[in-house]
Amino acid sequence: MNNSPTVLQINSKAIRHNLQYFRSKLKTSTKLLVIIKAFAYGSDPVAVAKLLTSEKVDYLAVADTQEGVVLRKTGIDLPIIVLHSQAENFEWLVEHNLEPDLYNFESFISFYKLIKSKGLKDYPVHIKLNTGMNRLGFKPFELDKLRQIITNQNYLKIRSVYSHLAASEDPEERKFTLQQIDLYKKMYDQLTESLTYKPLKHISNTSGILNYPEAHFDMVRLGIGFYGFGNNKTETAKLKNVCNLISKISQIQELEKGETVSYNRRFVVKEKSKVAVIPLGYADGISRGLSNGKGYVIINRKKAFITGAVCMDIFMVDVSNIDCKTGDKVIIFDHQQQILDFAKQLKTIPYEIITSISQRVRRDFI
Ligand SMILES: *Cc1c(COP(=O)(O)O)cnc(C)c1O
Repeated sequence: MNNSPTVLQINSKAIRHNLQYFRSKLKTSTKLLVIIKAFAYGSDPVAVAKLLTSEKVDYLAVADTQEGVVLRKTGIDLPIIVLHSQAENFEWLVEHNLEPDLYNFESFISFYKLIKSKGLKDYPVHIKLNTGMNRLGFKPFELDKLRQIITNQNYLKIRSVYSHLAASEDPEERKFTLQQIDLYKKMYDQLTESLTYKPLKHISNTSGILNYPEAHFDMVRLGIGFYGFGNNKTETAKLKNVCNLISKISQIQELEKGETVSYNRRFVVKEKSKVAVIPLGYADGISRGLSNGKGYVIINRKKAFITGAVCMDIFMVDVSNIDCKTGDKVIIFDHQQQILDFAKQLKTIPYEIITSISQRVRRDFI
């Protein structure tokens, strides 16, 4: 059994808090989908999915079939959308009762033929519309043809027709986002006008939920907010951090002036120093870009900056001014601000920091 002191603690209380916060922003009739792709944003997809089942969310979504299969094998029976389904995995997807996102004629027809050949009826699928993200989805000129295909057939049931916002977090892109929402409404109507039922209508991710309440429609797709990050400081402050990365000091090095730390000797000790060794590295998701003072951890309530280069399995921090010893607890992050600081140093977004914590790190669901 893995008893490693390095652990990513996933805080179920924080999850419940965040869920409650977002629910309070929705009308009671609005359905809630929670995105648990990429190991539930680096946390623990199975534990999170179980909690979401007991919290009675309406839908889950993952990025690929494999992620959905893992959930099904552990008994998760909520409806699950595979956001970026691939035709090669359609058989597997159907075997596990997952719901594909169909985003072009190739994927649509390939899935349609499979369901027909299996003699299945009303298999739930989701249609993605491209309203300006230019990633996946049907464009306006394709809708007439698509409408003809989806009407008067009963192999597939269009459970939802949805789109994705490209810049919902950015107030400077408000005009563009409103255009996207407007285009989406028109495209939805055009595609569904001859159906005898109403597919679910959804376009909002976390920032969409917060910034565009008029675009909640039938369902919202909550991602990063669930894990504790809003679209700005004020919103983030109302959320709780879900994933806490904790370790402990393996060894302390007492160094004299002129000695160096780590590979390539990029850090030269200027005065008598103390360096603490921490048992995780870039293979665990602590980017090498945090080397030499870019990143920090918290030891006994004080900031200890990374010294020298981050190694594959180990990094060192300067603890010259911190009273600490071997075995003391190291908080790599347990608050959104630390994750945001890492992201800033690495010129990226918190999404990348949390999803980068590798599977080698033990997960502990609290
Ligand atoms: C990942 C994803 C989301 C979640 O976005 P957040 O910004 O994390 O809320 C929503 N919709 C789609 C299609 C996605 O791929």
